[in-house]
Amino acid sequence: MWPEASRIRIFMPFPGLEVPHLCAQCDDYPCIKSCPVEALSTDQGTKAVIVNREKCISCSKCITACPGHVPFLHPKDNKATICDFCGGDPECVKVCVEAKYNALTLVQEEPTVDRKLFARKPVEVAKDLAVNLFGEKGEEVI
Ligand code: SF4
Ligand code: SF4
Repeated sequence: MWPEASRIRIFMPFPGLEVPHLCAQCDDYPCIKSCPVEALSTDQGTKAVIVNREKCISCSKCITACPGHVPFLHPKDNKATICDFCGGDPECVKVCVEAKYNALTLVQEEPTVDRKLFARKPVEVAKDLAVNLFGEKGEEVI
């Protein structure tokens, strides 16, 4: 209904290529470390980044500190906004299953995965996808 305010945003860096953009929950949380007013913390249960909107001064430091520039300032209150996992019961998963797309599933964390690798800018993801699809020089890979 209001994509600009959604905590999971979809970008289309190139026509026809849609890239979801969301928090990867980095092990070292560069966003939290960068905040000058300690407005960011982690939820002990879900490990999601939680924003204290009262404390946030909209300085954007968390955005530049994030390798994927995932946080954004909400169009309504101009405060940092990050997916908070809906407290551990994500609405996106529920609605996807309800609509029978079944593209999303809630899975257990895999400790061996370096989550920071998934914190990427949409254009970087799109470039990699384009190379996978069409090859380095644009020729189609079979
Ligand atoms: S935008 Fe808000 S949450 Fe982000 S670093 Fe600045 S004060 Fe902290
Ligand atoms: S992906 Fe960005 S917002 Fe999420 S934990 Fe890492 S640095 Fe923070």
